[in-house]
Amino acid sequence: MSRFDLAVVNGTLVIPHTGLVRADLGVKDGRITAIADKIGTHEAETLIDANGKVVFPGAVDSHYHVGIYRPFPQDAESESRSSLIGGVTTLLSYFRTGHHYLNKSGPYRTIFPEVLELAAGHFYTDYGFHLAIMTAQQLLEVDDLVEKYGVGSFKFYMFYKGLNLSADSTRGNDYTMADNYDLGHLYLLMEKVSAAASKHADSGRIALSLHCENPELIRVFIEKVKEEGLQGLKAYSRARPPLTEHLSILEAILLAEATGCPVNLLHLSSRQALAAGIRARREHPSLDIVLETTLHHLTLTCETAGGVIGKVNPPIREREDVNYLWEGIANGEVDTVVSDHACCMEDEKRDADLWGSLPGFGGSSLLYPTLISEGFHKRNVPLTRISEIAAASPARHFGLFPQKGALTVGADADFAVIDLNKTQTITPELLQSAQKFTPFRGQELKGWPSETILRGEIMMRSSQVIGQAGGQYIRRPVGLHGASADPSFSASLERRIMVREY
Ligand SMILES: [Zn+2]
Repeated sequence: MSRFDLAVVNGTLVIPHTGLVRADLGVKDGRITAIADKIGTHEAETLIDANGKVVFPGAVDSHYHVGIYRPFPQDAESESRSSLIGGVTTLLSYFRTGHHYLNKSGPYRTIFPEVLELAAGHFYTDYGFHLAIMTAQQLLEVDDLVEKYGVGSFKFYMFYKGLNLSADSTRGNDYTMADNYDLGHLYLLMEKVSAAASKHADSGRIALSLHCENPELIRVFIEKVKEEGLQGLKAYSRARPPLTEHLSILEAILLAEATGCPVNLLHLSSRQALAAGIRARREHPSLDIVLETTLHHLTLTCETAGGVIGKVNPPIREREDVNYLWEGIANGEVDTVVSDHACCMEDEKRDADLWGSLPGFGGSSLLYPTLISEGFHKRNVPLTRISEIAAASPARHFGLFPQKGALTVGADADFAVIDLNKTQTITPELLQSAQKFTPFRGQELKGWPSETILRGEIMMRSSQVIGQAGGQYIRRPVGLHGASADPSFSASLERRIMVREY
């Protein structure tokens, strides 16, 4: 029997927070068991020759929307599969009750096991969930969700307040299927998350993710833009301008300070929003604030995103905003870069006008290629920094470290072997998603994975997915759940979801 199941030899390792190291990797039973100068060819069952290539930790795409617009198992399969093309080995998906997803509301103790059931056996990457707490009833479930179900992060949508209010006020809000989805609800949620974060501080980070846009401002700006008869992505950006992000960030930070809640400010799209996040961090040094941006906000502008198909919230902005976000990456202010992947069918985009079409699109398969091409090649962003914003930092901030996001002995053997000089022009076919269009179409990116490896198994080689849908649900924070299966986890789920053992 060989000493290793798999060895990655002759490559240069990109080790987060450390640097570039010429070394070989040895893998046994899905984990890294050796980092050595030289591993002999006879020592491993399977060998990957990474000569001339770099080896990154598998990317952790920490902002995803599996099942938002399509049947969950189908979406999990096609989209997690596409993620492998770009070197993603773990994805963290948002889920909420209400309109879209499963189109219903209720307690998570009944709905979340259903989500896990729909997910089991359908992911090509490992995966976890952030849950949006939408109702007063769900507020009481935060502790159980952390401790029993391994949900280590939650979400609040600042812009849902007052959105799509039902004509029949007794039915509450149709879209959220919640009654009091407002800053009061947010305050109570922050109290709950803050308490859970303190209680489990030694096991990994627990935090609240925030979609920051202010709905009252959006309402008046949309009216204004419609009156002027404007169309296109510039109009959309003016209808939800950076000011709406800014105001929302200020509200959120004030409440985070009052409750001590760790927060993630999601998909910051503009100079004004990122600057507000950076300022908040300086002014509140004791607060735990993570700043996130997306691939599309780093690469697309109102002119280049292909019209209505580039509709997303918050909107695509101007070139000046794009440049400022890259500065934030270079100077260490941006913590994580994500895809915010939401697979959307073309007719749902194109058949409707700007206001009626669904927001969002996919992009997970571009995670490493975009950061390497636009960051490393064009802007001299160090490869080590790229390994941090794409893998180590999301893993750390979402309770996955050091199982994920690390090239270290004991970590899961998740790698992206990358040819820094491979150049490809983006087409929908290349991304292998169920989405048959892409606002990224035509971009030429340099730096693509030749292999993506999940827990020691080669999942993707030369743009072909060759592995099976053996992705595992990861219970977070891993410091709390690493040891063994929780007996309260339902028996049927235990059979189908493998729990990591240490
Ligand atoms: Zn999102």
